[in-house]
Amino acid sequence: MESHDFVAYGLPLIEEDDIAGVLDSFRSGWLTRGPKTLEFEKTFASYVGAKHAVAVNSCTSGLHLTLSCLDLGPGDEVITTPLTFVATVNTIIHTGAKPVLVDIDPYTMNIDGRKIEEAITSHTKALVPVHIAGYPCDMDAVMDLAGRHRIKVIEDAAHAIYTQYQGRMVGSIGDATVFSFYATKNLVTGEGGMVTTNDDDLAERLRLWSSHGLSHGAWNRYTDQGSWFYEVLVPGYKYNMTDIQAALGLSQLKKLNKMQARREEIARYYNEAFAGCPAIELPIDSPDVRHAWHLYIVKLNLAEISVDRNAFIDRLKEKGVGSSVHFIPVHYHPYHRDYFAGASYPVTEEIFERIVSLPLYPKMSDEDVAKVIQAVMEILN
Ligand SMILES: *Cc1c(COP(=O)(O)O)cnc(C)c1O
Repeated sequence: MESHDFVAYGLPLIEEDDIAGVLDSFRSGWLTRGPKTLEFEKTFASYVGAKHAVAVNSCTSGLHLTLSCLDLGPGDEVITTPLTFVATVNTIIHTGAKPVLVDIDPYTMNIDGRKIEEAITSHTKALVPVHIAGYPCDMDAVMDLAGRHRIKVIEDAAHAIYTQYQGRMVGSIGDATVFSFYATKNLVTGEGGMVTTNDDDLAERLRLWSSHGLSHGAWNRYTDQGSWFYEVLVPGYKYNMTDIQAALGLSQLKKLNKMQARREEIARYYNEAFAGCPAIELPIDSPDVRHAWHLYIVKLNLAEISVDRNAFIDRLKEKGVGSSVHFIPVHYHPYHRDYFAGASYPVTEEIFERIVSLPLYPKMSDEDVAKVIQAVMEILN
């Protein structure tokens, strides 16, 4: 593996097998949803241990699709976290329901299971936990609360392909789970996503609404009238995945374990290098979960260093290392500042000032990793 002058913050791993899969789609003539999408859905469902998987063109559309299928509307409330990508919250707003944000746990940075119950009202219809960085939420607490209050759990698993919670795969736990295959995620299809569920009715609704509301049953019922006939049963969306994306998904899924092993290795190098450094709080890990290491987020102990987080990021860049921040709290964006006017989430706000995501992806060479470690140590000393 070569070393790079600038260690990019994130890069996908696209190899010859991925390219061959995509070329095969082109040669087959199937450009949109076809046999490879069906195969990717089947393979993915069995990978996470869910009964159904519905391939979509992004995690954002998957979230919107799933929330829409719960018949949410004005007057309903959906609980989620302020420390997430805005799509989690925007898709709730798209349904007409009101997002209700619950502050995070300072260690895991996931929604704080102990604070969810206070936010539940008679209007609460769903809960959207986000497994930040690939470390799972406390799903026992979440599922227990949801069961007692009869609310649905839709997991935002954009970071959590490969994640296990107490031996169970994320994707097989909540009422539905939505994954992202965006270019920066652990498995990439460029743009793309997947919804998994064990609920037969929900799966049927997801399929119906993901493709204009076209009744596939109609094709069987009216075959004698020719294949031009279709019926639209609901005013559905256009959210399907294409076979070109699915080809990439299939080749990426085949080597996911290999890619994850490299992520785990890099995370271990970082953990060992930064252990005992008082300026850095390491990302959480625990023996009863399997971390997907989508992100390696360190928390700076600002009292121990002479720079703030933004200056730390600038210094890293000067030293040839890209980094990022996950995330700008949702309620800090101009639109959401007005929407959530007056709201404050103290744990999220305090942590936001201290977090930096370091480069972590399978394509990184050992030299790249060493360069990141050296740059961080130089700045902190
Ligand atoms: C990336 C991401 C999304 C959106 O995924 P897309 O596939 O780009 O729509 C949603 N939630 C979180 C937490 C993300 O990181």
